[in-house]
Amino acid sequence: MKFVSTRNPDGPAVSFGEALFRGIAPDGGLYHPVDVPDLRALIRSLGEDASFVDCAAAMIQGLFGDEYDAETSRALALKSFSFTPELRELLPGLQLLDLFQGPSCAFKDYGASFLAAAMEAELQRGDAGPRDRAVILTATSGDTGSAVANAFSGRENIDVVILYPSGRVSPLQEKQLTTLGGNIHALEVRGSFDDCQRMVKEAFAQEALRERLSLTSANSINVGRLIPQSFYYVYAFAQLKDRDEDELVFCVPSGNFGNLTAGILAWTWGMPVTRFIAASNANDVVPQYLESGVFSPRPSVSTLANAMDVGNPSNFERLMHIFDPGAKNEQTAPLPTPMSGILTGCAVSDEKISATMKQTYRTTGQIVCPHTAAGVYAAQRYLESERAGNTLVVTLATAHPAKFVEVCRDAIGLEPEMPERLKRFLKLPKRSVVVENTLEALSRELLDRFG
Ligand SMILES: *Cc1c(COP(=O)(O)O)cnc(C)c1O
Repeated sequence: MKFVSTRNPDGPAVSFGEALFRGIAPDGGLYHPVDVPDLRALIRSLGEDASFVDCAAAMIQGLFGDEYDAETSRALALKSFSFTPELRELLPGLQLLDLFQGPSCAFKDYGASFLAAAMEAELQRGDAGPRDRAVILTATSGDTGSAVANAFSGRENIDVVILYPSGRVSPLQEKQLTTLGGNIHALEVRGSFDDCQRMVKEAFAQEALRERLSLTSANSINVGRLIPQSFYYVYAFAQLKDRDEDELVFCVPSGNFGNLTAGILAWTWGMPVTRFIAASNANDVVPQYLESGVFSPRPSVSTLANAMDVGNPSNFERLMHIFDPGAKNEQTAPLPTPMSGILTGCAVSDEKISATMKQTYRTTGQIVCPHTAAGVYAAQRYLESERAGNTLVVTLATAHPAKFVEVCRDAIGLEPEMPERLKRFLKLPKRSVVVENTLEALSRELLDRFG
């Protein structure tokens, strides 16, 4: 499997290893697979008895068969995933795919773990180009950073620098970012998540800085994070394909749209699914695009589902590339947009998020995190709509509710039980450096540490 830039699909194709370490293409585009492999037979061959690692190994082999043999694929799957997704029924016609069994208790552990394992493997194979070390630079609105920090913590020859918006992540999220120490460095940015993301993009655009420090990204823009996220859709499909419902729909709480894009990729590779629902919070530029055909990014606003507070989702460029490759960088499309053939949008206000958390708890006794609640709300609206037939909606449960204690307390008057792996972070001291929201401030920090 080779990769090209979304901004120059006819340009030079690079290997997986190169795409992994470069993160973003030299022209500022995102790497995207050149070919659309036909994995229909492979995906349909997976059944209820296939474990998550079985599914992941089969997918790795199917996608990267030219680089990894079966044994290597399985070893990579095993090394990446010491945790596994779980399906549970929430309401009739509505299942949750729990994705928070990893060390940071959010779905991003899947992408981050695979990325770390794949980078390590490429560095060991000598396939990472001229480099023997790497500095990973990543912006987080809360959850990315802790997943990446945990996945890379203690790895040799790799340092991780995490930018997060000061005062805009939860206290627990901040502890998860700032307490690991060692090769994990936390920068507290005076600004918003969009500022953090812009600073990272600007740093990568500085060729001299990038080369000198071997800068690499670990954001959801990195194909090493994106691709493994397709594995749990395939796993869920394999678990559910023999059920009675005629239609399978995935509902994805979305911010930067990496998770959703991974599902769409699995669909382009042959996973049979009727539809996807993109559940957004008040930052609803994609649902608006689906309705109006106009994509107009804008500054993000803070919501209860803060890991989805993204005003200009990076992966939209990939979605455009998949659905409308001729459109280049146009921000408008004729209606109905090509994307809306498979994707429905739903914007969920803070009030609805809160009300859904409360109602879900009252009717099922289960506590869902605010991001998952946005998904549950969107799934319920879909099931009530004319479009839904005999449908099973699988909503991705993106984080453990205990990561959002304050929101849970306000919504349902109760605190979820905190898993041990989260409790230990709270006891450790915070270590971070405050920086202004400029490229200059970031460059100075990077050069001081690694220059
Ligand atoms: C990151 C995150 C999201 C949004 O995922 P994207 O891939 O950025 O769309 C949703 N929920 C939680 C808990 C997250 O951490």
